[in-house]
Amino acid sequence: MTTVDSMKSYAANESFSRGRRFDEPRPAYRGEYQRDRDRIIHSTAFRRLVYKTQVFVNHEGDLYRTRLTHSLEVSQIGRSVAVALGLNEALTEAICLAHDLGHTPFGHAGQDTLNACMRDFGGFEHNLQSLRVVDELEAKYADFPGLNLMFETREGILKHCSARNARALGDVGERFLARTQPGLEAQIANLVDAVAYNNHDVDDGFRAGLLTLEQLREQALFEQQFEKVHALYPELEDRRLIYEIIRRMIGTVVTDLIEETKRQIEEAGVESIDEVRAADGPLVNMSAAVYDQHKSLKRFLNRHLYRHEQKLEMTRRAQAIVEELFVAYSGDVALMPGEFADRAASLGGADRARVIADYIAGMTDRYAIAAHEGLAG
Ligand code: MG
Repeated sequence: MTTVDSMKSYAANESFSRGRRFDEPRPAYRGEYQRDRDRIIHSTAFRRLVYKTQVFVNHEGDLYRTRLTHSLEVSQIGRSVAVALGLNEALTEAICLAHDLGHTPFGHAGQDTLNACMRDFGGFEHNLQSLRVVDELEAKYADFPGLNLMFETREGILKHCSARNARALGDVGERFLARTQPGLEAQIANLVDAVAYNNHDVDDGFRAGLLTLEQLREQALFEQQFEKVHALYPELEDRRLIYEIIRRMIGTVVTDLIEETKRQIEEAGVESIDEVRAADGPLVNMSAAVYDQHKSLKRFLNRHLYRHEQKLEMTRRAQAIVEELFVAYSGDVALMPGEFADRAASLGGADRARVIADYIAGMTDRYAIAAHEGLAG
């Protein structure tokens, strides 16, 4: 674990943080970023992640990742990297745990459909929605809306943003207009998200029978580890073989990421988070060779798993559910529960559509399915 004393000078540090939107007394026995992490874990949006799709819809099987277990795996990898680099572990953990809080039901099918429904009202983007959840939508504290997180946590949650949205966001939007970088903890969270899903989706895709060993062996990251494991354990059954390969793939990519980042930090000569922000580009990177293999695996999963014929049926159903819910609520806001109905009724145009999008985005898969069935009744 990194303690505040052992952190590097370029780590995010609460003593020179840009602080919270609403001033609060400091916590007595926790750091400020630990408090952020705890608020995220106690949020209602976090609990809902357990019933939201990562790749496989929740009811497809008990062993598949959900958005909750995905977030935990991202956080676990992120923390290891942060500690190895002498960065702020609690902040990294907070960003990783919160990064998908704004995700719709049904994974990317849900997000794309909601975005299409919101076309005339400013669109819908799950990453921006994650920030909206922690800034506005969580209603838990008497003194402020949202979770009132530290600037650096919010900066890390907002990974990308259009110029138009950036202008509306104020402080956390500035870097997209000035084209500066976020802190290193945010850069870690951004990259290890993909490391986590690349690996767990190989596992889930293989378990589901949608990916074969032969196909996977065409991927360099996988094949290198396959050869090592196969040489050591030629008789190993497929299930354990895959696990052995995946743990080694994660180890290889994470080790490369740590070593390459150390090298780039040293080369850039940064000494403070402000210098990290002003650097020409992100400093948290894999080496070019490993990054190519990582991207290749990502493209492979996109082609062979996310768009697999067997997944398309569920995708089409998810799209219909989200779209029909949006159309129904737009036609009659009273179909939504009290507080959403009241707020939507008092607004018009884009503001009203946004309330509907917030309501739908907050749904779990099974809640959306039930709400959709309720429309017919
Ligand atoms: Mg993610």
